[in-house]
Amino acid sequence: MESNNPIVFCNLCNNYAPQRLVHSQAATSGGDTFRLRERRFELSGAYYFVAVCETCKGILLYWTGPENPTKAEVFYEAELVWPKPYTPHKSVPKEVVDRYSVALRVKDHADSFAVEIRKAIESMCIQKGVDPSRGRLHQAIEKLRKDELISQEIAEIALALKEFGNEGAHERGEIKSQQVPLIEELFLTIIDQVYVSPDESERMRKRITDAQKKAKEVTRISDEKRKNHRTNYG
Ligand SMILES: [Zn+2]
Repeated sequence: MESNNPIVFCNLCNNYAPQRLVHSQAATSGGDTFRLRERRFELSGAYYFVAVCETCKGILLYWTGPENPTKAEVFYEAELVWPKPYTPHKSVPKEVVDRYSVALRVKDHADSFAVEIRKAIESMCIQKGVDPSRGRLHQAIEKLRKDELISQEIAEIALALKEFGNEGAHERGEIKSQQVPLIEELFLTIIDQVYVSPDESERMRKRITDAQKKAKEVTRISDEKRKNHRTNYG
């Protein structure tokens, strides 16, 4: 059967699949409630496209603002609003994010997913300054642990992901689809621990320092007022 539906990435089933446009809506009722920065999707000059993924039959919602209207034929070039696309924390290096994105595309194939997650771990090693080329991922992880660039716990989790990746690479394939959520959970724990958590702690530390500065200033002004009061009224 010939289909003209564009092949687009669907992050419901993590697959490239034909997407069929089932509804488009020009919400042009006027008013000035449209706020690009606040991501408020209100009835004011916005265009919406609803598409159905032909593989998983789920729906996807695309949106575009009045400044850059998208033609219905290329609805998939508009911004995907739902399902919410994976947005990595800004502290995670691009190479690692890219690898993870590749893994997500093959998530329905457990062996490939495990192999791609293993590559994401390799990316992390390279990004931390240890090149795990020529199948030396085990040594690379050990070195990062010894140099205290990753903790003992993270090293153990990374080694388990390396094992999953090795099993997935076997010709017969050994990873079961039920293991995919575990692999993903282990991987995201590493990401949170290695990148997100230090970044967030640093931000919190800055916030506390700033607040402390402001607090000192408040106290200083109060002290001064009190002093002036005493001088003026004895
Ligand atoms: Zn789908």
